[in-house]
Amino acid sequence: MITDDRYRTLLIDGKTYSGNSFRKPCGGLLSPDAQKAFAEFDLTLPKDILVDPQIFSVRTIDLRTRSERHYQRFYMNLDRHKFDMWLKSLVPEKVEKFCGKCRSVTQRPDGTFRLVCKGNGGAEEVFTADRIIGADGANSIVRKFLYPQKKIRRYTAIQQWFPEENAKPFYSCIFDPETSDCCSWSISKDNIFIFGGAFAPYKCRENFEAQKKRLENFGFVFGKPLKTEACMVLRPESPFDICTGRNGAFLIGEAAGLISPSSLEGISFAVNSARILSEVLNGNASDPNRAYSARIIPMRIKILSKVMKCPFMYDPFLRSLVMKSGIESIKVTK
Ligand SMILES: Cc1cc2nc3c(=O)[nH]c(=O)nc-3n(C[C@H](O)[C@H](O)[C@H](O)COP(=O)(O)OP(=O)(O)OC[C@H]3O[C@@H](n4cnc5c(N)ncnc54)[C@H](O)[C@@H]3O)c2cc1C
Repeated sequence: MITDDRYRTLLIDGKTYSGNSFRKPCGGLLSPDAQKAFAEFDLTLPKDILVDPQIFSVRTIDLRTRSERHYQRFYMNLDRHKFDMWLKSLVPEKVEKFCGKCRSVTQRPDGTFRLVCKGNGGAEEVFTADRIIGADGANSIVRKFLYPQKKIRRYTAIQQWFPEENAKPFYSCIFDPETSDCCSWSISKDNIFIFGGAFAPYKCRENFEAQKKRLENFGFVFGKPLKTEACMVLRPESPFDICTGRNGAFLIGEAAGLISPSSLEGISFAVNSARILSEVLNGNASDPNRAYSARIIPMRIKILSKVMKCPFMYDPFLRSLVMKSGIESIKVTK
């Protein structure tokens, strides 16, 4: 949070409780790293953000080898939109708020930024700022403005919601190299069964449907979806994919490319990078861009460690060895 009185801060965000508000498609699982990030703010989570059931393990399925293992997990199962709205409610009163979307970013010769925005009601507004922070996720308009040439690996994440009916709720992680070189997941939330996966953009919908078909042999019953949602998700391949911003513009969270390429866990990276940037901007660094970039180095190293973990999860041969070995798996008695 930027608390320094040197700044007048404007938050541009269109999320509301209304039915047609943008809702981030997400697994809504708060990892231990994210829980720690909130603990460091001395924050506690209101219970109406949690959903039923809470989970203790993940059923990992490799469709290629038809093998399965269970692994213990310590996630909290959340309603992602309620979680986002709770976070928004924590924004201090003195921060001005504009409910809408930023359409374009430009930088003037004097170094200030010009943001053309459209309010949720349709009216256009133009804002000028000395500094901007892109916290605008995988499809960041600020990142595109700052680094138009820079490519980062991206996937299309597709999720469908189904009535749970009589199935026993479970959390699963699915690997199916025939349809995706990333992973898929299923999770239950308040009697809704959610199935989603990350797919290379080309033929993503076909591959999603093909994977659903293949999962029917594993006892998955899908039926007619209540809702289908999709968005982009980034998957960095190296610490150099992380871009922290320049010339008075900063990137945090997934806009910076900060997301685990192994698990697609991104909430802890978003919270931690926001905290680091606020510390830099509230301090007296002569070059805040350089100071922020330096403070992000441990997160780059963490991304590197996740990149190195990827072959053991995503290379079909290594994954089958890991799953066969049973290392860290738990025995589940039904
Ligand atoms: C399907 C899926 C499942 C996932 N599951 C998990 C999970 O279970 N646990 C986990 O930790 N991570 C998960 N992730 C990753 C996680 O959702 C993101 O990494 C994390 O939300 C990033 O936070 P952020 O604040 O950087 O961006 P976001 O959460 O994407 O937030 C960006 C915000 O910016 C707003 N915005 C975007 N563009 C504009 C604009 N032009 N003008 C104004 N506002 C704008 C959006 O409305 C949005 O509210 C998942 C990702 C996907 C796609």
